[in-house]
Amino acid sequence: MKPANSVLSGYGTTIFEVMSRLAVDCGAINLGQGFPDEDGPEDLRRIAADALMDGPNQYPSMMGLPTLRQAVAEHNKRFYGLDVDWQTEVMVTSGATEALSNAIFGLVEPGDEVVLVEPLYDCYLPMVERAGGVAVRVRVTPPEWALDKAALEAAFSDKTKLVILNSPMNPAAKVFSRDELSVIAELVERFDCYALCDEVYEHLVFEGATHIPLMTLPGMRQRCIRIGSAGKSFSLTGWKVGYITAAPNLLGAIAKAHQFTTFTTPPNLQIAVAAGLRLGDDYFDHLSGDLQEKRDFLADGLAGLGFGVVGCQGTYFLTVDCTAFLRDGEDDVAFCKRITTEIGVAAVPVSAFYGSDAPTHFIRFCFCKKRSVLEAALEKLAVLNS
Ligand code: PMP
Ligand code: GLN
Repeated sequence: MKPANSVLSGYGTTIFEVMSRLAVDCGAINLGQGFPDEDGPEDLRRIAADALMDGPNQYPSMMGLPTLRQAVAEHNKRFYGLDVDWQTEVMVTSGATEALSNAIFGLVEPGDEVVLVEPLYDCYLPMVERAGGVAVRVRVTPPEWALDKAALEAAFSDKTKLVILNSPMNPAAKVFSRDELSVIAELVERFDCYALCDEVYEHLVFEGATHIPLMTLPGMRQRCIRIGSAGKSFSLTGWKVGYITAAPNLLGAIAKAHQFTTFTTPPNLQIAVAAGLRLGDDYFDHLSGDLQEKRDFLADGLAGLGFGVVGCQGTYFLTVDCTAFLRDGEDDVAFCKRITTEIGVAAVPVSAFYGSDAPTHFIRFCFCKKRSVLEAALEKLAVLNS
């Protein structure tokens, strides 16, 4: 048999799938892969169900249904003061993952450099490499996950086409500050490149932190591609509805990739997500407030057990230092497997979010679960101290 594509065949199965499968096989509580254990608003699910029955269920236009594109534009204005033309600056995709893929394949040429901040979401590196891009990685390091400005500057060059910024950031749970964003904006302008802004956790931000889209900074409106996900904003991760906001010339290039990838997204889900983006502020406040309580409950519990809990400003995730519990020669991957199979609680090793030379003593727990589930997980983990 002739070989498969060499870039992709070099990667194993994604850690989220690996840990979820293991959790199912062992009947473990799954605090690994990031998904809520309660579905989002019933009203939205009802709208999707009715639209499915009423139809039409045929191909929507490739840029997305007008009602959803208009809702994305309104949402940009309402939350961030951005004036967006829904007809030329918004496109609907089948999940944020497709949006990322479209942007990378639509913009990156072989040999272009792409700056990535580690720890990084798992699909960035394979997509960049598959597009022929050269990944240039810089790191933020726990517990502060502070951005080293000099290291970031050194990562940019005349060959830089894109920087990928994930804020709020998975798995670091860091929300980039205005100061940090200003540094990035200055580099994007100086090196005449673009910023691919993965903002899927935009509404999952906790007290004391504010999500600022890079696109709102001076000079950035024409250079940023802003990506959102209904999965995260409405606790419906299986729907896979995403949306891109970008200046017309960038969106046009990105749409070239979309038209040859999925082309479109199920119409009933688009109608329901449009209604979701138009929900009142109380919905979005409640979403983050509820999640913050879960974060605090799990963080206190894990700290009580002896994990080194790292701060969490947003997302679904808590990163913890598990050094206290590692056996001789055991790394984060082996530890996650052990607690899944032997203790019955799954987590994700943070080393999976690095291209190479990863730290191997941090693991990630997902806290968007019912209180009773978090309680049960903590009870099980208590055995680590016996
Ligand atoms: N970006 C980040 C940072 C994520 O954590 C995820 C996980 N859901 C995605 C993108 C993918 O979003 P979607 O499910 O909408 O494709
Ligand atoms: N974003 C989710 C996480 O970080 C996983 C999504 C997926 O499995 N592709 O856990």
